[in-house]
Amino acid sequence: MSVALRLEGVHLGYELRHEFHTVVEDASLTLEAGRIGCLLGPSGGGKSTLLRAIAGFEPVRAGRILIGDHVVASATVNVAPERRSVGLMFQEYALFPHLTAAQNVGFGLRKLARAERDARVAELLALVGLAAAGQRYPHELSGGQQQRVALVRALAPRPALLLLDEPFSNLDAQTRERLVVEVGDILRAAGQTALLVTHNEAEAAALADQVSRVSNGRLDSVEPGAALAA
Ligand code: ADP
Ligand code: MG
Repeated sequence: MSVALRLEGVHLGYELRHEFHTVVEDASLTLEAGRIGCLLGPSGGGKSTLLRAIAGFEPVRAGRILIGDHVVASATVNVAPERRSVGLMFQEYALFPHLTAAQNVGFGLRKLARAERDARVAELLALVGLAAAGQRYPHELSGGQQQRVALVRALAPRPALLLLDEPFSNLDAQTRERLVVEVGDILRAAGQTALLVTHNEAEAAALADQVSRVSNGRLDSVEPGAALAA
């Protein structure tokens, strides 16, 4: 199996009033291609900071981040986000309100020829049961439907790695439960490598092949079953 993502002793933090505050210390993790990993932990533990560093939006103070065989971040390397082959589905990454569902999904496919792009968009919308909703605008879709569109928008360019930051937390419990199962099925069917951030143990257990606990800036790998029992 090839490795899709590797964190090696990653150190992250923020400069506040000329003082450096450590948020994540010595974080290490290996995620093999095709697997779904989870960062699980309480709010404020550094999960989003880690995910943003992997995506390329936070500098790394020490250690290295590798995507595939490429070092994308270290104290001296910082590959631009758009060159990391990473897809993002963040809770706060809302859909573009002025674009239809189909245009949102096609957004990352602008380099493709029109016919090819339209075919890929149709295939992706069908994958999430929204074949008939391509011409609707985000405000004409339910919260669950919007998240489905956001998911396939992120999947569209076939990123090497999909990063999901609390993607279900704005949904009602029933929609969330259904979508967790659906998203897991879609990612596995696509063979998509993904890293999910959540504070929800049930979500981690339902979706992930491997779970790492994040708390107080530390990262400990545990099995999905153990995560529930812990
Ligand atoms: P989580 O996603 O696990 O809730 P975060 O990564 O968002 O945790 O935050 C971890 C810590 O980093 C928190 O103490 C938070 O206040 C701090 N933090 C997050 N973003 C910033 C920022 N842009 N500037 C300064 N501190 C930040
Ligand atoms: Mg967060």
